[in-house]
Amino acid sequence: MSHVQPVRMGPIEIRTICEGWAALALADEAPGQTVDWDGERERRPWAFFGSDRWRWHVHAFVVQLPSGMIVVVDTGVGDFPPYAPWEESVEDPWADVEAAEVRHVLVTHLHADHAGGTVIGGAPAFPNAMVHVHEADWSAFAGSTDADDYVARHAMSSLLELGMISITDTDREVAPGVQLRHTPGHTPGHRSVIISHGDDAILLTGDLLHLPTQAAHPGWWSSHDEDPQLGRPRDGCCCGELPTMGGGSRFRTSRDRSDRWDPRAGSGSITARRAGPVAGPGRSSRASDDLQRKGSPACRVES
Ligand SMILES: [Zn+2]
Ligand SMILES: [Zn+2]
Repeated sequence: MSHVQPVRMGPIEIRTICEGWAALALADEAPGQTVDWDGERERRPWAFFGSDRWRWHVHAFVVQLPSGMIVVVDTGVGDFPPYAPWEESVEDPWADVEAAEVRHVLVTHLHADHAGGTVIGGAPAFPNAMVHVHEADWSAFAGSTDADDYVARHAMSSLLELGMISITDTDREVAPGVQLRHTPGHTPGHRSVIISHGDDAILLTGDLLHLPTQAAHPGWWSSHDEDPQLGRPRDGCCCGELPTMGGGSRFRTSRDRSDRWDPRAGSGSITARRAGPVAGPGRSSRASDDLQRKGSPACRVES
């Protein structure tokens, strides 16, 4: 069972699949930026491990729509190993997901911890689903065939032959209330996913944000971003409850704000509302309170 409780937004349910977490070195994360790591650790202890590492979670999301349609956002590592050895892993975290019932798989980008689970043992992991990938990622990683690249592009080639992959460069609605939004920087074709119902929306960020500090400091970037200037969320940052960071995060927001959000322009913003209860190491009222104080003017948390 995932340490992150499901979120419900009207008739929509979003479950978080957690495959596990590994400890990564803080020293590698924010080159050239002055970060008060001791202060960050005190404010958000759940995000850190020991004195010099942080907890990188691998998350994916299973979205059940009112029609009964199931949409998966990111797919975990699949046959790939974790990027670093697990400190904790979850045995068969996908056990409760009926793979054959999934109709759409939205891959935020092609790094193996987000797209590795689209193909398992050479076969589509979701046999009746269309997998959606941005064209810029598909092109950028065309030559990534080495396991050390940690990219799932090559393993996904069989989806192309089977006609089970949609490679486009457009922002669009793939299912009622489920929108793709191009948010480049971490990778050229990185996408975020906005799920909306009525006036509410939930944003699934992929690796747009990698560290909890980025939610409080929208101008900061991660060393994992291929283009840091594009990758930093700037004023288009969103914030809210932070169940965990590092391998896919979610934020509750409003439909109106999400419709206008454009991190590339640096002018859009999302006003996040408090999400429902979130369990686990990321659950900390202090963390969310802190975000209310420290969020930029464009990053306001409503109660
Ligand atoms: Zn997790
Ligand atoms: Zn990534």
